[in-house]
Amino acid sequence: MSQRIVILGGGTGGTLVANRLQRQYGDQASITVIDRDDVHVYQPGLLFVPFGLAEPQEIVRPRHAQFRSGVDFRIGEVDRVDIAHDTVHLADGVEVPYDVLVIATGAVLQPEETDGLIGPEWGRSMHTFYSLQGASDLRGAMAGFEAGRLVVNVIDMPIKCPVAPLEFCFLADWQLRQRGVRDDVELTFVTPLDGAFTTPVASSRLAGLLREKNINVESEFATGRVDASARRLHSWDEREVPFDLLVAIPAHGGPSYIARSPGLGDALGFVAADRHTLQARAAQNIFVIGDASDVPTSKAGSVTHFEGDTVVENIRQFLAGDELTGFYDGHANCFVETGFHRALLIDFAYEAEPLPGRFPERHLGPLPLLAESRLNHLAKLAFQPLYWHVLLPGHDIPGVSSQFHPAAEPRAQQTSGAPR
Ligand SMILES: Cc1cc2nc3c(=O)[nH]c(=O)nc-3n(C[C@H](O)[C@H](O)[C@H](O)COP(=O)(O)OP(=O)(O)OC[C@H]3O[C@@H](n4cnc5c(N)ncnc54)[C@H](O)[C@@H]3O)c2cc1C
Repeated sequence: MSQRIVILGGGTGGTLVANRLQRQYGDQASITVIDRDDVHVYQPGLLFVPFGLAEPQEIVRPRHAQFRSGVDFRIGEVDRVDIAHDTVHLADGVEVPYDVLVIATGAVLQPEETDGLIGPEWGRSMHTFYSLQGASDLRGAMAGFEAGRLVVNVIDMPIKCPVAPLEFCFLADWQLRQRGVRDDVELTFVTPLDGAFTTPVASSRLAGLLREKNINVESEFATGRVDASARRLHSWDEREVPFDLLVAIPAHGGPSYIARSPGLGDALGFVAADRHTLQARAAQNIFVIGDASDVPTSKAGSVTHFEGDTVVENIRQFLAGDELTGFYDGHANCFVETGFHRALLIDFAYEAEPLPGRFPERHLGPLPLLAESRLNHLAKLAFQPLYWHVLLPGHDIPGVSSQFHPAAEPRAQQTSGAPR
């Protein structure tokens, strides 16, 4: 009997793993992907929508069309996983048994978790660009903003793509300058972190850019509530930040079915997994990819892509009864748009923090690391066609390894499991 591989979530990770497995097994395995809808959003494109640099319809494609033939794509809401009986329960009562389960259900936005964020002002003076609707609504607000206090607030960590809020600040600065109103706008980045980013060298480089662009930073600000009528953020330690236009990055958590699946997730709903093999702690026949896991690296598409090699390799070895040798080293890379047709690139891993150099080869590659360049910006733009035509179909990106470059400096003391 062919092996039953069930993949929960048909976003970045679910799609690329399904396509790789289908190529590997053909009809030797049945590969089923379950997602709640048929709308695949290229999420990095959300950054550009509020500035009129991308149209919402340009970053959306039908989910079912991203799968190789032979992958069984089903639309359904996952209600819970019964680990003891290797069965997924869908909200409509259907039961889906599996031999191997891949969890690729990502992270969900939880604006309702912050007192005062959702209300009559949500979508008027308070927005997010982390959803398609939010990014579209924000475009009008940004275009009409002439003067006052623009505040970009990361409510809590972890979030998807931790550099995206910084990119939003840089693009806002650029757009306001182009419109000739920058001097009339006070732009502030409010973060719960103690700096611009989670690792020291990148943080200091990004903080320098924020300073150069006259963007204020309010750090270690843990937002407790939002007073929408007074237009103020309040932190738990009773600091306040006033705003006229708020761009909030809501708290993130795992999807609610994780909490209904005993043993699967942590308190935030992320799935506990071995950070190198990506095997779930709850069961040997469950693997996790992408934002859904609790592994201590960024929640990013690049991470999801690099993890794909490990997940596919380890599923093959698990089904063959072999020891798992697929090893994910925490490799992540992020292009940071800085405005003015330039971007900065950071590349790091569990044991290596982002450092200057070149990419993909550390000494010779065409893209400068931790430095702004036009080529980095063009590479960021080129990523969208690569996403649909190379990454989702499950191909490797030529010259880019899923492993961090072996010549990298070891990270001095990477003992913490804190998300980046
Ligand atoms: C604004 C923004 C900018 C970003 N920019 C970048 C960038 O520049 N570079 C980068 O590398 N990454 C970026 N990212 C992050 C990147 O998009 C994600 O890390 C990546 O998509 C994660 O893939 P995933 O498969 O884990 O989750 P997703 O692609 O989000 O897929 C999860 C899927 O699970 C489904 N699902 C969830 N719960 C259920 C359920 N109960 N039942 C059925 N289906 C369910 C969802 O519908 C969804 O399709 C950005 C993200 C955002 C929001």
